[in-house]
Order: sequence, then structure tokens, then C-alpha cells
Amino acid sequence: MTIKTFITFPDERQAKRSLLDMDEQQLADFLAELGEAKFRARQIWEWIYQRYAGDFESMTDLPKTLRSRLAEVATVASLTLATEVVSADRDTIKCLFQLHDGQTIEAVLMLYDQRRTLCISSQAGCAMGCTFCATAQGGLARNLTSGEIVAQVLYFARYLADPSLLPDSNVERPTQVTNIVLMGMGEPLHNYANVWTALRRITDNSAFGLGARHITLSTVGLAPMIDRMADEGLQIGLAVSLHAPNDSLRTSLVPVNKGYSVDAVLEAVRRYVVKTHRRVTFEYALMCGINDSPGLAQELAAKLQGILCHVNLIPLNPIPDSPFQPTSDEDTEHFAQILRAAGIPTTVRLRRGIEINAGCGQLRQSRDAQNRTS
Ligand code: SF4
Repeated sequence: MTIKTFITFPDERQAKRSLLDMDEQQLADFLAELGEAKFRARQIWEWIYQRYAGDFESMTDLPKTLRSRLAEVATVASLTLATEVVSADRDTIKCLFQLHDGQTIEAVLMLYDQRRTLCISSQAGCAMGCTFCATAQGGLARNLTSGEIVAQVLYFARYLADPSLLPDSNVERPTQVTNIVLMGMGEPLHNYANVWTALRRITDNSAFGLGARHITLSTVGLAPMIDRMADEGLQIGLAVSLHAPNDSLRTSLVPVNKGYSVDAVLEAVRRYVVKTHRRVTFEYALMCGINDSPGLAQELAAKLQGILCHVNLIPLNPIPDSPFQPTSDEDTEHFAQILRAAGIPTTVRLRRGIEINAGCGQLRQSRDAQNRTS
């Protein structure tokens, strides 16, 4: 494992306008305020979203005076790298980014044979309070802007496209982000408007242009927002973090279950499937002695009967000193077999990034702990 920490300074971006928070029309309006012609908006748009420019200096077909003026009043760099951790096999790269106000967020790039999957954050912190999650421990600091969400994708697009930035890799050198999952810090449906603005930008062919079917949004189960998502008309995949088949156990793991019970969430999912005809993924983080008994597997299978779905069993990324520890491989397989025998398609997620604190919120937590002791 390789860890690089970058010193960060008080941030001058606070006073600047982020172009990543603008759609193309807003960018054109902003440039008009600076006295620039409309066609400059298209030029800059393409530099940002198709050529992944991380600063104005590299936008070489803009006049030098415009580049200097833009650098004074605007930014296309919403993130500053604070810590980068690369796994020993060099296939998992986790970054802690600092935002202009000092908040930090995490994103992880996972290199597979055919896919380059990016896990991004939607909020700095999280208000959902899941008891097994490192991010929950600090609460919610704030929502990310749409630009800060898009910036994570652009950072890794730049990273993959530039051979000098990539660590030596065991796998064929990837050149583009192929899949995105919103499973990092935060609850994406709790920052609905900004997340969907970002998703439209990421999938827009005139911007980043990734197919919506290559993106999955993971929610803890905010039922009314699942209904809203069903009406969006974008083929984004839906994953619901269930983690328990009944209310008493689920409320102890996922407190938001008090507001949206297991049945309420499953009803919202049924409506979603009827509207979108899309298969939904249920995520279930298996925790030793907590939610991994054969009886609970049977209860889960009974609950999910008749829903067009698939269960993804997740080996928990353990948090040090936490009572929540991962289920053994043997018990995980037994749990999976019970679901499959009941006709529920089930997979076990590949373990990735345990050694580099790749579980949501863990890198930020260890950096905060370091800062407290230094
Ligand atoms: S598991 Fe997800 S929804 Fe729950 S507290 Fe952590 S980041 Fe928030």
C-alpha cells in the first residue's frame, strides 16, 4: 500500500465562481458578464467535460488575457487532493479531497479487467446515522454542490487519461471511467436536486457523456424520493441498502427505518419497478452475529418474493474498535445459498480496499485522528 499526503492551505477558491456548478447557458451568461462572446462558452465547456482540463492555463486555444481573467474570478478545480492511498495490488485508488471550505470527502477508483468503477460521494458527512458506518459518526456537514459531485468524476477521468498520473498497474492500462456508483459519503437522495443536476451533466452527451445504465445510485431507502426518482426518465440503476429484513433489526442498524419501514421501502421499490421495468439491487452488509443468521436469510427471501430484484451481499469493511465485524466467508456463502434456493438472484461483492480503509468514511476518519494527534 502507498500513502501520499498533500499539505493543504487556506483556500482562495472560496471567493471564486465554480464553473462546474453551471450549465452551459449559465456559463454563457457568466462569460457575457465578463464581456466575452457566446462561442467561448462552448469552447470552455468542451475543455472541461471532454478534455478534462483542470485549470484555465491548459485551455490553450483561449486568448491568454481571457485565461488570466478567468483564473482571477473563477475556478474549474472544486477539489484539492489531500490524501491518496493506493492498494498493494495497485488496483484500488482512494482519494480524500478537500473542498474550498475545508470539508473533506472521499472517492474510490477500482480497476477491474473490463471496468473502471468510480465510487463517489454526494454529501460531506451524512445525516442518516447508520450504526456500522464511519461516515455517520461525524454527522452531516453539508450537501455537495452539483459541481463538487461532477468534479470527482472529472478528477478520475483526468487521472485515467494521463499515463504519468497512474500508478504502475497489474491490469491493462485503463483510459476512461466506465461505471459510477453513488455509494461514497452521504445519502444521495438527501441531496436530491444537486445529485440529479450532476447526473444529468455526467450523462449529457455534450458534457461527460457516460451512459445512464452505467451509473448506480445507492440509497438507504428514502421512500418518497424513490418515487421521485422513478419519474426522472434517466435509466440510472437503483440500489437500496436494506441490511435487515424486519423493522426491529433494521432500525437498530439504519435509524432512518423509523421513518420509512421495511414494508414502506419495499412498496416504493415495487412502484419503481412497475414504472421503470428496471431490476433493483438490494444491498445487505453482512455483520457477524448481527444480521447473518440462516433464519434472517429465510425472512429476507420471503420479503423479496415477487420483486424484480437482485441481492448483493457485502462483506463489511470493519471499523477499528467497532462491534460490527464482517461475517466469515463460509457463513456469507451459506446466507447466499439460502437466498438463491428461494429464487432470489444473489451475488457476493468482491472484497476491495480493506487494507486502504476503502469503506465509506474510513479514510477521512483516520486522517482526522492523525490531525488530532499531530
Ligand atoms: S451507510 Fe451511507 S447512508 Fe448510512 S450513514 Fe453511512 S453514508 Fe450515510
